[in-house]
Amino acid sequence: MFPDNIYSYFLTKDKILNYKSFGKAIIGTLCDSVPEEVIHSTGAVPLRMLGLSKTTENADVKMPSWLCYYSRRILEDGLRGHFRYVDGVIGACSDDTKMRLYSLYKFHVKPTFSHILQLPLDEDEKSILFFRDELAILARKLASFLRSDWSMDKLEGSLKIYNRFRSLCQELNELRVGDSPKISGVDYMKTILGSTSMLKEDFNVNVQKLLENLKDAEGIKDYKLRVHVSGPEFYDVELLELIESLGAVIVSDDLSTSYVKGHIDEHGDLLRNVAKHYLNCPSLAFFRIGAKDKIQLIKDEVERSRAEALIILRDKGCENYGWLCPLITEELGDFPALVLDIDTPIFPEQYKTRIEAFIETLSD
Ligand code: SF4
Repeated sequence: MFPDNIYSYFLTKDKILNYKSFGKAIIGTLCDSVPEEVIHSTGAVPLRMLGLSKTTENADVKMPSWLCYYSRRILEDGLRGHFRYVDGVIGACSDDTKMRLYSLYKFHVKPTFSHILQLPLDEDEKSILFFRDELAILARKLASFLRSDWSMDKLEGSLKIYNRFRSLCQELNELRVGDSPKISGVDYMKTILGSTSMLKEDFNVNVQKLLENLKDAEGIKDYKLRVHVSGPEFYDVELLELIESLGAVIVSDDLSTSYVKGHIDEHGDLLRNVAKHYLNCPSLAFFRIGAKDKIQLIKDEVERSRAEALIILRDKGCENYGWLCPLITEELGDFPALVLDIDTPIFPEQYKTRIEAFIETLSD
């Protein structure tokens, strides 16, 4: 039922070279606060850069080894030449590590095009207009690098494709919340990961077919516990596979792959609308504006999905989640929560006993 070909686009990144063979430039983003719509409207293929290296020996001598595994693996992939096909990278000042990652990547890997977006720390009108101007600078700079025409009409076309993308993903996400979820948390994540390295217009066609296939699916019935998974940048499906293989079903999450939420207004000042969305969306903004919105997001998702427990994947090098984690557990009070400290290389088996005990205790 699940089309492996979507996920394989992510796993075998050389598939993206198909786009290159049609003359498309590939522009990587180092942060989900970089609006892909703007890149797409310049004619390039936006690629969400996610490091796939299992070990980080090269990156560890170029950056502090205690930094998050997400940043270390991206730099590692860059140093190993895995991103050779990427024509340029765009970062954002969303947190200290992402800023350092951008400058280290630029220094060591030397992409032909590079740019970093300044993100305001607030979300009021003044901040939205500031970010709108930042996006205009990016669009002009990138279009000039690509020698392409950029216009509001092109941005409008991209917004429509991305809004369609978000609404299809939200539809898919809703299939997780029934009594018998029609898609597992693992397959949902695989699908979203597939979207990170495909043109969204191509991805939309695939997801539409997937939704058709899943419509009459019987769903998952033999599970013991409905869980919500929380964490920062996390895309190691093996650990999620372990959680689900032990009897849980992941009915919702707020991992960085949840960047598919919301809708951008397609009328009026389009760049302002994009800026507003990216500054306001809680799944994108919480590192800048504090914990309150993220905690509320988790509470809302837990209520929507009727999750019975929370599993937090805390990257040992992520100071943001390090600060946030105790606040989440305190705010959720008696709600059952399991915190797993994650570091590279990840050996899912090392978490097996704790996850198993957590699920068994709560499903008795
Ligand atoms: S938010 Fe955390 S995981 Fe993400 S880049 Fe920053 S430190 Fe790393």
